[in-house]
Amino acid sequence: DNEYGVIPRLFDSEFILLYWEKQGDIVAGCEIHMPALNERLAAAIQTPVNSFRFINILDQGGSPVVSVSGSNANESISPEKWRQPFVAKEISGILPYWETAILLKSPEEFRKQIENSRYFLSSVIALLCILIFSGITAIYYFSTARLREMQQKAGFVTNVSHELKTPLTSIRMYSEMLSEGYQKDPEKIQKYSSYIASESQRLTRLINNVLDFAKLEKGSKVFNFELIDINSLISGILPSHKEEFEKSGFTLAFHPAAMPLYANCDREAVTQVLINLFSNAVKYSGENKDIEIRTIKDDNRVSVKIIDRGIGIHKKYRKKIFRDFFRIDASLTSDSKGTGLGLSIARKIMRQHGGDLVFSPVNTDDYRAGSIFTLLFPEAKIKAARSTGDEA
Ligand code: ADP
Repeated sequence: DNEYGVIPRLFDSEFILLYWEKQGDIVAGCEIHMPALNERLAAAIQTPVNSFRFINILDQGGSPVVSVSGSNANESISPEKWRQPFVAKEISGILPYWETAILLKSPEEFRKQIENSRYFLSSVIALLCILIFSGITAIYYFSTARLREMQQKAGFVTNVSHELKTPLTSIRMYSEMLSEGYQKDPEKIQKYSSYIASESQRLTRLINNVLDFAKLEKGSKVFNFELIDINSLISGILPSHKEEFEKSGFTLAFHPAAMPLYANCDREAVTQVLINLFSNAVKYSGENKDIEIRTIKDDNRVSVKIIDRGIGIHKKYRKKIFRDFFRIDASLTSDSKGTGLGLSIARKIMRQHGGDLVFSPVNTDDYRAGSIFTLLFPEAKIKAARSTGDEA
């Protein structure tokens, strides 16, 4: 049905191509001149040779049609080599058994190159996987840390508002009762006044903590370091708290080391640290209300231990309690109220003194036996104390 076509034929084991075409009622044809066809096919292969392969056209007998020589004169390509090309594909139905074929210059080299690029690609893929995995982990870590921080800050605001409101309400209530003048009983008047005093102390402590936290965060807290005997510093603070402790059923025993223990410290800041720790010992107490303070000198350090027999701290919280805003029971329904700043401020202050604040349980086998918070100061030499003419 066609108007023209090409017929391949083997004639006396020679390959010939016949071209035919209809012209009206006549069919005319001719034999295609194979050398001319070969020349055109050879021209169609743009780069028969490059650094690693040859391209050629193999005829029906598997012989190369184009003469391809390598870049090296000795690099002759024998027809045997073309019998096992690296890849070969039939050209077209018009040229049956004719193939385009690729021969590798050095199959070993080529395999090595492929293997190298496979190793390279595998390493790149592995590296990308590691990067993606670390990225996901980092995003997960930072977003959960951020979320936790935001939740703790929100909890902090609620707790502070609550903490401010409670003492303010008591102060207002007792002061109104006193100012109305109905209460004539001197004992009760004394009781109300001491409530007002202790609640105002609580308020001052809270406000100081919040202000100090802000200053420590900004790095703007100024410390006035002086050489102080830690034993006398504690003895100085205790009387104003002893009565308060004893009123709520606590016993406070101070066991100072036999000799004065000198450290370079800011009196006000260390007092604040001690008060925070005393207040925790009371807040987180249990049935046993004995609180002990011991001062010890070991090596070149001065330690102050605040030991309570309270509810203790479970192993899983021992690092977390020093974080900003962290509270083991942060709910508003918790038995004890707080801001979660006391220990973080105390540790920051101690570190600014070149020391530290650490926790240990009273009994390593049962955390519920109570807590020991230890303040560690680098010991100051007495010689230095004399030269400053201070308390030494
Ligand atoms: P706050 O007391 O305002 O909550 P802190 O930073 O002082 O904040 O303490 C953090 C948390 O550590 C407390 O909420 C409490 O759960 C725990 N904690 C602190 N001191 C003690 C202690 N002596 N005994 C048991 N738990 C304590």
